[in-house]
Amino acid sequence: MHELLESLIESLKGGIDVLNDLLALDVLIGPETLDRAIGLLEADTITRFESQSSKRECFHVKGDHHTTYLCVEDFCSCHGFAARSDRIIPMCKHLLAVQLSIGLQVGRTVFLSDDIFGDMLDVNKLNN
Ligand SMILES: [Zn+2]
Repeated sequence: MHELLESLIESLKGGIDVLNDLLALDVLIGPETLDRAIGLLEADTITRFESQSSKRECFHVKGDHHTTYLCVEDFCSCHGFAARSDRIIPMCKHLLAVQLSIGLQVGRTVFLSDDIFGDMLDVNKLNN
């Protein structure tokens, strides 16, 4: 919580966009999803993977019951995302947490070669 708060405050120094963004998210996505996404950020559950030569990226988010979910651009491998896929903005707590981590520039990145990066995209290998 402390680190997240610090980066929020740091971002606020550069303007009030973060605050406005959070308020907008609260309205658009609902406070429950936002609270859970912030909880994921606080628990340090997000790892960003970047392939060194192609510069592709994906994210792994460790969710409930130690299940790892794959987030790529506007996609998450969780059931919640699939259930919301008919909405204009399909969003789950994992995807929102990833967006917040990008916006707040928190979390870690692991750089990989392209062939190992491919393994990170394989949903079947995530929780084995
Ligand atoms: Zn998800």
